[in-house]
Amino acid sequence: MKLYNTLTKKTEELKPINPGHVNLYTCGPTVYNYAHIGNLRTYIFEDLLKRALLYEGFQVKHAMNITDVGHLVGDGDEGEDKLEVGAKREGKNPLDIAKFYKEKFFQDTDALNILRPDTVLPATQAIPEQVEIIKTLEQKGFTYIGEKAIYFDTSKLADYGKLSGQKLSEKKSGAREEVVLDPDKKHPADFALWFFLKGKYENHILHWASPWGEGFPGWHIECSAISRKILGQPFDIHCGGVDHIGTHHTNEIAQSEAAFGLPLANMWMHGEFLLVDSGRMGKSEGNFITLDTLKEKGFSPLDYRYMCLQAHYRTQLNFTWEGLHAAKNARYNLTLKAKELLVGNKIVTLDTSATRATEFGIKFANAISDDLNITQALAVAWEMLGSEISGSQKFDLLMQFDRIFGLRLEEVKNIKDTLVLTEDVEKLKQAREHARQKKDFAKSDELRKQIEELGYEVLDTPEGQKIKRKISL
Ligand code: AMP
Ligand code: ZN
Repeated sequence: MKLYNTLTKKTEELKPINPGHVNLYTCGPTVYNYAHIGNLRTYIFEDLLKRALLYEGFQVKHAMNITDVGHLVGDGDEGEDKLEVGAKREGKNPLDIAKFYKEKFFQDTDALNILRPDTVLPATQAIPEQVEIIKTLEQKGFTYIGEKAIYFDTSKLADYGKLSGQKLSEKKSGAREEVVLDPDKKHPADFALWFFLKGKYENHILHWASPWGEGFPGWHIECSAISRKILGQPFDIHCGGVDHIGTHHTNEIAQSEAAFGLPLANMWMHGEFLLVDSGRMGKSEGNFITLDTLKEKGFSPLDYRYMCLQAHYRTQLNFTWEGLHAAKNARYNLTLKAKELLVGNKIVTLDTSATRATEFGIKFANAISDDLNITQALAVAWEMLGSEISGSQKFDLLMQFDRIFGLRLEEVKNIKDTLVLTEDVEKLKQAREHARQKKDFAKSDELRKQIEELGYEVLDTPEGQKIKRKISL
């Protein structure tokens, strides 16, 4: 299986440390607000990766953190802790905020048919492990103490910034220009490992004892500590969105490598951004779209999942409502096709095209192992459905492919047969047949409407009218 590694900037063959087993770490959500569909695109990408690994026969151990402390507004070391912002906004304790949005996050990911990680650990439940790493860094001379925090000294690490390829001299403090430079820091790229309860953090609600006094951890240290605790170091694959490359993942690598003299992870994979109407999504832009927004507009979460299958994970995806409509229709057609194949399966077909079916299986697997080319895999699925192979082969292949697509196509087994008409519809069908024979088209149209109102669709073909029950997804 070939995957693109941000660290080496090459597409490489995956070679797990323990052959046949892949240890996978994905950066989890900051649980101070609803996840937006951009965040969810990243989790869908990671799910496709995990499903592809399972499909290829690897055993996967998947760990994820939950950021419930320390992630400051702006990703740098300025601004307020996002959890405290959420707590103030809603008049609650940060841990209640975290609990609420964590539950909501998993409701969303379940609805998107995203497989849950094997282990999920919130930052607040791994404080001793974080403190241990900071102690090690201090012993090894990688830290210095400022007014409000203990910092990582990036100048002590020769290859700091290797993930992004950005030189230390180019690195600005925080992602945005307007971020005020912290006078405490020797270099703008240095970052906080542990904040003290001083200055604006004097009243920080969550805090723990440490060798440097009461305080709370910086954002990046939680992932170094949690991934190491659960997966060991190094582990195989570390994922996140592209915005993590320059700061969060760069700093995770710096801390873990400086502390233990070992790589943190062998492969680093990053999902590209979702744009909305070609722009950034955010509260201030007024286009913060959640999964609930999609549901309110009559879409299923799986329509959005289908939409994400239509773009490679390393290309930006532009969200538009028209695009989502098209994805909804395509998913409807795919599910209907699966249903019809299932019904058709009851009729035994003579299997004459086993080789051709195998070819589709190979083409699909090749697409997947080519840096997760899901778009190509989806194209193979449609090509296969339009081919000459038997209905039962099509159905079996589609179910096999859906182990990666995750569109819950197996649920067609629970959908009533679309070609079986109720008595009412059967009567209307006959009446319409009559009207058409008498060329009474007004009557025929009226009857079509009545049939459609009962949840069926009517197709007039050269062989006569075909009526199918619409399935609701
Ligand atoms: P956060 O909850 O802010 O820590 O982010 C959760 C995940 O969403 C991270 O992996 C981010 O890289 C990712 N992310 C943030 N914005 C977007 C976006 N517009 N499109 C895709 N992924 C995003
Ligand atoms: Zn992380």
